[in-house]
Amino acid sequence: MPTTTLYVPLGGLETVTSDEMRSQPAHRPGEGTLAVHGGGSYPHAHHALTVPIVETATYTFRDTADLVDFMDARLWQGSRTRTEYGRYGNPTVAATEAKIAALDGAEQSLLYASGMAAVTTVLLSMLRASNHMIITDDAYRRTRQFCKNFLSRFGISCSVVQMGDYEAIEAAITPDTRLIVSESPTNPYLRVLDLERLAQIGRRHKVRTLIDSTFATPINQRPLEFGIDLVLHSATKYLSGHNDMLAGVVSGAADLIEGLRQQLWVMGAVVNPHAAYLLLRGLKTLALRVARQNENGMRVSAFLEQNAKIERVWYPGLPSHPDHEIAARQMTGFGGVISFEVRGDLKAASRLVDAVRIPLIAPSLGGVESLIEQPALMSYYEQSTAERLSVGIKDNLVRMALGIEDAADLIADLEQALAAV
Ligand SMILES: *Cc1c(COP(=O)(O)O)cnc(C)c1O
Repeated sequence: MPTTTLYVPLGGLETVTSDEMRSQPAHRPGEGTLAVHGGGSYPHAHHALTVPIVETATYTFRDTADLVDFMDARLWQGSRTRTEYGRYGNPTVAATEAKIAALDGAEQSLLYASGMAAVTTVLLSMLRASNHMIITDDAYRRTRQFCKNFLSRFGISCSVVQMGDYEAIEAAITPDTRLIVSESPTNPYLRVLDLERLAQIGRRHKVRTLIDSTFATPINQRPLEFGIDLVLHSATKYLSGHNDMLAGVVSGAADLIEGLRQQLWVMGAVVNPHAAYLLLRGLKTLALRVARQNENGMRVSAFLEQNAKIERVWYPGLPSHPDHEIAARQMTGFGGVISFEVRGDLKAASRLVDAVRIPLIAPSLGGVESLIEQPALMSYYEQSTAERLSVGIKDNLVRMALGIEDAADLIADLEQALAAV
């Protein structure tokens, strides 16, 4: 496991010399400290406390000798103390990547324009014609769609295997398999995968493993510590935490991430510096926000489970959840997303969604505002009830993504709304 650093150079485009950097603490700091200081580097331009938003498409050179020095350094020493063009790096983006790497316990992180840009660019970078990959079901719908309908056009095949069936995952591996992709916890049923077991399967067969850990955040779960090769997050969700930007990020060992970085420079789905700044700002409160969302998750799920109008609650913090045991072993908190089935049909669930006053009706999750939605009317609307059922989406299913409001208010709100169902 790489050692976690609090203060590192602004990897890529540093604005300080190394003797100006603060000394490293001896042990891995707590998550709250890492969220505030992780990956930081001081001083910044103009001695600002915050990292400046460097809005530039390109970078200048003093003269041609300066340019030639830069090109030689880049070509022959792999040095990245500056860059020449915005697609190849940005100081605000580099500072944000350094903080996420510190939180994930990774050597490096790489930001993308969105979570899906991260998923698609990573898969296109790691796979080539005749390769095979494995993905577990109950995965983010667009990721599944990309693997089944898009990668197949390039001669890359994909097996979908049932979440939690480790024998089936191992049995699906062929000599052409290069990658196993899974999520933990999943959407919408919050299924939790035994990460150590998956990492062992990958290592045994020399197949890379990638976990979309968006629902957990590095506060609740760090897949790299269990031997997973790459961890991916939609930074649109908890990492930024304010529902005001889109980004994606992948973390892992330096050689793997460097390879992905070179591919990103060609494919071009880079994050813009302003979005990177919003993410960097949001990250500072990540540990606080997630602690509150964990607490809200426990309290609201316990309330829902004892209500007669609720048929079933899916929350990994509840002993009734099928993966509670592994979640308790592998995670330090159970997150802020709860799915539940309202007793009755699609209309009954809609009555509840319409009657709540605090959660807003919207897709997404992880922000400070609580959101509520019926998957049957949101992500799966184009499909018939039968088609939805075939992928496990019931009409009466409601997904709540808790924000950081007071649990007592959220519960009182649900109580009045349930009376209206
Ligand atoms: C939202 C989400 C994505 C896609 O991320 P975007 O930032 O919306 O592109 C991928 N995986 C999971 C688990 C998500 O929740």
